[in-house]
Parts: sequence; C-alpha cells; structure tokens
Amino acid sequence: MNIRGPTSGTVWHSRLVSYRTGVKCGVNAALYLISSKRALTWACCGLLAAWLCNPAAATSGEKTVYWTTNSADAAACQGQLNMIFGALQEYQKRNQNLPRWLSDLVPDYIHDRNTLVCPYVLKTGNLKKFREKYFLGRVFKDPGSCSYGYEFCTESWEVPGWTTRIYKERQMELIGFNVPIVRCFAHRPVLNLAFDGSLYPSTPEWEDTFVRSSKQNAVLHNIFLLTNISENKLVSKLSEPRKPETNAGLLDLSTQCNASLLHLSQIDQSGKLLIPYPEGVRQIAGVQFDVRAIVHLGARQFPILLPEKIENIPVNRKCRAIHFLHGATFPASNGSKVASFVIHFREGGLAEMPIIYGRDVKTRWFNQNQKSELEPPKPAWISSPDRVGANGKSLRLYMSSWRKQNADPDVTTIDFISHMTESAPFLLAITIE
Ligand SMILES: [Zn+2]
Repeated sequence: MNIRGPTSGTVWHSRLVSYRTGVKCGVNAALYLISSKRALTWACCGLLAAWLCNPAAATSGEKTVYWTTNSADAAACQGQLNMIFGALQEYQKRNQNLPRWLSDLVPDYIHDRNTLVCPYVLKTGNLKKFREKYFLGRVFKDPGSCSYGYEFCTESWEVPGWTTRIYKERQMELIGFNVPIVRCFAHRPVLNLAFDGSLYPSTPEWEDTFVRSSKQNAVLHNIFLLTNISENKLVSKLSEPRKPETNAGLLDLSTQCNASLLHLSQIDQSGKLLIPYPEGVRQIAGVQFDVRAIVHLGARQFPILLPEKIENIPVNRKCRAIHFLHGATFPASNGSKVASFVIHFREGGLAEMPIIYGRDVKTRWFNQNQKSELEPPKPAWISSPDRVGANGKSLRLYMSSWRKQNADPDVTTIDFISHMTESAPFLLAITIE
C-alpha cells in the first residue's frame, strides 16, 4: 500500500472555530448528564464499533460487500483524499474556518462531486446502501452525495454544547496533528486522512493506533473523560508517572504540561506508531532531564488552540544554571523571537531568556540529507530518520541554558511565553544545576 507521508510543514491558514466557551458549557452540562447517558452512549458506541469491525453481520446475509482489502482500491481512494485535503485547505484559507460538510466544498473547491465518493463505492454502485449502513455515525450524515466520514462536521454531540468538531479539536490538543479529519470505511484497514495531510491505515477505531497501555486505552476511548476533565489531568493520565526517586533539580512539570508526547509521534505506512522522542529520565547533551509530557504554547494561525503562556512554573531554589529542553512546531523567519523564558528572583527582579528562531531553535521535523538543515543551531537530540515520507524525517530538540556569572541567585518561578509568530514553541523539561 502506497501511503503518502505526512506534510509536517503544512500550515493551516487560520485558527479553527473558537471552542473555549463550548468546552465550559459542555463540561458543566456533562457533569449531571453523565450518569444517565453513559450506559446508553456506551451501548451505542459498542454497537457501532461491533458493526464496523464486522459489517457482514449487519448485512443480514446479503451478498453485497461494503468494503475492500484491495491495495489498488486503497491507492485510488488515497488520490481522492489528497484532493479533498487540498480543497479543505483552500476553503479554510478563504473562509477562516472549515466547512460544515464536505459537500460544502462543491463546486467552488471541488468541481467533480464524485470526488466525494470513494472510487470503490462508486465502482460497486452502492453509495445509498453504503450510507444506510452507517446510520449511527454523525460523521456520515453529509446532506450531499458523499461516502466519506467527515470527522470535523458540526453535528451536535453526546454532550450538550459540544459538536463532533469540538471533540476532535480536544483530541488534537492532546495528541496533535495525527487526528483524522476525513476517513474512508470502504477499506479494511480503514483509510485515515490526518489533519496534517498524512494518510494512514487503522482499525475502525483509529485511537487504537496511539494506545500503548491499558491506562492510555481508558483515556483515548472514553469520550466522557475528554469532556469532563482538564487538559492537564488528561495529559497526566496519558503520561508515565514521575518516578519518586527523581532528583528535585529535574523540575516536575506535571501540573504545567498540557499536551502529550504523542504530539511528537509519527505513523508509518503500515499504520504503526513511531516514537522518535526521548521519554523518562534521560541524559541529553550532557544534562539529565525528566521528559514525560509537553508544555505546548500557541502560535499565529495555529490550528490547535493552545495557551500563549504558562506562568509561575515553581523553582524555589538557588540556581547556578537552568537548562531548558525545548522545540518548535512549524518554522518562523530566521531571527524572530518565538518564545521567552522569564526567570523571577526571590530578591526581586527578573531575567528574560529569548528563544530566537535560527539561533536557538528550528522546527521539529527535518531531513538529515538536506545540507542547509545541518547548519547551526545544533540540536540536543536528533532521532533516526523515519520511513514515513519520501526522504525520511528526523525529530530534533534543542537545549538552551541560562547562567548568571559569579552568583547563584535564588529563583522562585519561571514563565514560558510564546510571541505568537508562525512557530509554536514547546517545552519538554527544565533542569536546575
Ligand atoms: Zn475509499
């Protein structure tokens, strides 16, 4: 199966719909609805999942086949999914928002309406029956002629005040751009078009791809957790707990982390999750760091709603040096200040350590064969090239250190601030010397 690699450099042109209000309403409403609706909803989810895994059971003995395992059929569908991705980007650029349904892309962004029907479904002439089989799925309710599941539709969702899109945006906060935006169930494995334009196969429940433990399974497959507890608590559930013996100089960022390390993962052509990042207590560039999750800040026109700053990271100790392990999502122009670490002293006053693009940091994915990419700054961490794209990409992380000559000042807190350029800064760990 020939699946296109991720377009990690893809930049959506504007933030998606604002959903913070929706989250608040949804959370409050969910608190009293959860007990009564949980059983019913889980029953519905289970029914849908059971059918998705075994559609033959729902055909009541009919001979019609609603899906294919043929790789040529998958390749033809991938071509269309690429066209749909291009149209979605263009729509978003012009309208500052995603369409309600894929059929809203016709005719201005997609001229041939058959582009919204999987070639296999078109070939077998079963669009009507194919859609009838997905009566439980909101994402299949496009009022136009469409066989694809549109995960970012604005249909209302289990929890009042929430839509399917809000739910998907919440998932993106947690695990990043691998969340599918369009899916085709006419194939086994199912084909997924991720938010960054990459294509990958998965089981009918794509979240399975990211599950590495029963604890993660319980988070990623529990829709009510996503609507009920804060990002920070969800991230804690998706992360390894801090080991009690960890040196206190390796700061515990558990209460500041708002994104899981899965933001730095890739999925290969076979649908396998690749983990290129360091995890746990690791020696990087000669310094020990405790890496378990990410403090991810926002950027201008960044498609995931992330905070501009995280303030008051507690330190409360004398510091000879402070080491930051960090990175950036998407490039900014060389020389621009993408982030700052602001260090507050007990005796008053503060020091700002700016993070300059091209001097202290560059965007996280790069091609090691590209000579210009090997120029400074030198990364503190480089992963082996993956086999996802045409050339294979590596992950790079940077270390920046702050020192005060001839003094060990008592530091109370640190602020991490994004300057909202095109590049979204993220922090993995802080170590005090
Ligand atoms: Zn298809």
